[in-house]
Amino acid sequence: TYVVTDACIRCKYMDCVEVCPVDCFYEGETMLVINPSECIDCGVCEPECPAEAILPDTESGLEQWLELNATFSASWPNV
Ligand code: SF4
Repeated sequence: TYVVTDACIRCKYMDCVEVCPVDCFYEGETMLVINPSECIDCGVCEPECPAEAILPDTESGLEQWLELNATFSASWPNV
């Protein structure tokens, strides 16, 4: 899965949302998150993010962000 990280905070540029083929972005007050159980790992959102906030979970050190994406995507509205 891909993961939205802290560079998204107060950015929410939204281009990633437009390109996602499975609509798995969810929106909170200050950032977006990806639902890891819906993401199909296509990778098309990553280059669309001007803040470079979206990373594959294969990168190290993203455990906390993955957990945050999973938790908040369950309660925030789909975008
Ligand atoms: Fe959507 Fe693909 Fe990005 Fe996953 S990797 S959030 S499926 S655009």
